[in-house]
Amino acid sequence: MVDARKVKDMAAKKANQFIGAAAGKVPPHQHCRICHQPIPVSADPRVCKETACIEKNQQDEKNQRTVRIAMFVFFGLFAVPYVLALAARVMG
Ligand SMILES: [Zn+2]
Repeated sequence: MVDARKVKDMAAKKANQFIGAAAGKVPPHQHCRICHQPIPVSADPRVCKETACIEKNQQDEKNQRTVRIAMFVFFGLFAVPYVLALAARVMG
């Protein structure tokens, strides 16, 4: 016959192990945004020490900056005539 108390005990132990792993056992860390290796939380930018990852990250940041500027210009093209039209209406 299966000892129900034993099974319960084992389940509790398993649960404790799981909780232990989730809290404290693994030190706080983050992952390289390129290769997802664990890296220290203090790492900034959020990449590991691999040159490839650092370069890729810089490339990505450059691309993001370009996209942001392009968006800014794009919206600016729409915003300027709108603001001018609004100003013209206010002026009379
Ligand atoms: Zn990496």
